[in-house]
Amino acid sequence: MTVATPDLPRGADVVIVGAGSAGCVLAERLSRDPERSVVVLERGPADWPGVEIRDVRRLPIEPGAAFAVQHDSEGLGVVRGSGLGGSSAVNGGYFMRWHPDDFADWPTGWEIDHIAAAYAELDAPGGTMGVEPVSDDELGDAASAFEEYWSSRVPVRAVADRWPVVGVNRVLGNRTGIVRMTAAEAYVRPALTRPNLRVVTKCDVDELIVADGRVVTGVRAGSTAVSAGEVILSAGTLGTAGILLRSSLGPLDLDRELAVDEHRTLAVTYRRGSPATPGPLLPSVVHTEDSLEIRCYRDDFASYIRGLEPTGPEIGVAAMRSSPASLRLRGRDVAVGFGAVEPAMADALRSAAADVVDMLGSPEFAEVIEPGSITVADGFGTSQHARGSMPMGVRTDWLGGVYGTKGLRIVDGSILPNSGRSGPHATIMMMACRIGALLAGTVE
Ligand SMILES: Cc1cc2nc3c(=O)[nH]c(=O)nc-3n(C[C@H](O)[C@H](O)[C@H](O)COP(=O)(O)OP(=O)(O)OC[C@H]3O[C@@H](n4cnc5c(N)ncnc54)[C@H](O)[C@@H]3O)c2cc1C
Repeated sequence: MTVATPDLPRGADVVIVGAGSAGCVLAERLSRDPERSVVVLERGPADWPGVEIRDVRRLPIEPGAAFAVQHDSEGLGVVRGSGLGGSSAVNGGYFMRWHPDDFADWPTGWEIDHIAAAYAELDAPGGTMGVEPVSDDELGDAASAFEEYWSSRVPVRAVADRWPVVGVNRVLGNRTGIVRMTAAEAYVRPALTRPNLRVVTKCDVDELIVADGRVVTGVRAGSTAVSAGEVILSAGTLGTAGILLRSSLGPLDLDRELAVDEHRTLAVTYRRGSPATPGPLLPSVVHTEDSLEIRCYRDDFASYIRGLEPTGPEIGVAAMRSSPASLRLRGRDVAVGFGAVEPAMADALRSAAADVVDMLGSPEFAEVIEPGSITVADGFGTSQHARGSMPMGVRTDWLGGVYGTKGLRIVDGSILPNSGRSGPHATIMMMACRIGALLAGTVE
């Protein structure tokens, strides 16, 4: 299945760049037609991430990790998965739909019934991503106290429901037991016997091959050119931006920088009275009326990421509506610029952090935290969720076809047209399911 870079195929009907959350879905969908040749080019290693990498009690993203790449990011530690499954192989394993009204402004063709059907392929019982809610037994003491505290103040989603609510949401996870289900396991592994599908690893794509500034005819990796009837960029928001910024695409006028949105965060940390039980990183969240997500992490991030300095278990507050950031090339690679958090957003995060401090001082948390140990962070963090550099309806059509070009499509976090009120993973895969099925002609 895997070949080294010098053995790259010369061409294919479709070349997909990136075997991540979206790219794996497209590879499976588009290779269902045996007449269509599909090649996936992935920069990461040839090995399948094993169960020790996919263990949800760990985030295998420390510097030098085999399946992760670090980005220059003003010290905020931006990292992405790299290899079969991309970020789905190394992420937090939280797999939540966006709220139905988050799709109100999506282009025509993205009606809520279609969206619900595409989500269901992934997250319904028996769906491809093995999605299950965190069970009562797995909650741990902090999330049990968190749910108890909030359930007398805001609505609570029934644990098995898939659509989130403004209120308490028990996290749904893409995992079987403690093993993260990745997009590669769910979609590429079952398709590997198809002779018309090739997945090439250790292949870092440099740029698009472009004729007349707008017609994309393939990609270049090192000194090798691979021609394509169509190129689909699924290299993730940062990887796709890198390829676009390194290429000579006249009509896009990218001006050497791409604007993206992040979910900026403010951390409230504390010391525990006794050690946490091991389990999924993020068992429960609250979604607020003003589009914040209050995340009750089980423990200190240092107990999930090797080499990280302990800072204390965390309750994170995240601004789920737009927080602007930018992507630029620094040398060959993409650097993320965050800049200051807008004053209104900063105020909202600080106010919610004050609510979290009140919560941690409540009787529900008396057995969990050491008195007097609560700290609100000085600065703002990031969620690893950058999206929207090439939004649908603005820079691409509703299926990711890039306006003003021929032969180029983007299907990954780059084309999300807005920021949903949940994390992006389930929605990026949902988008890939629907676009893949439409391109393959299997749905309307
Ligand atoms: C540490 C971490 C934790 C996260 N936790 C959560 C979570 O719990 N819940 C949630 O909803 N979201 C989470 N996210 C975000 C979510 O995982 C991503 O938004 C989503 O997986 C992105 O999917 P994608 O298809 O856009 O890109 P990716 O899955 O990142 O795939 C991109 C692929 O392209 C490859 N690639 C990049 N550049 C090139 C190139 N030049 N040539 C060839 N290949 C290339 C990469 O190696 C990668 O395999 C997390 C992200 C990270 C990094």
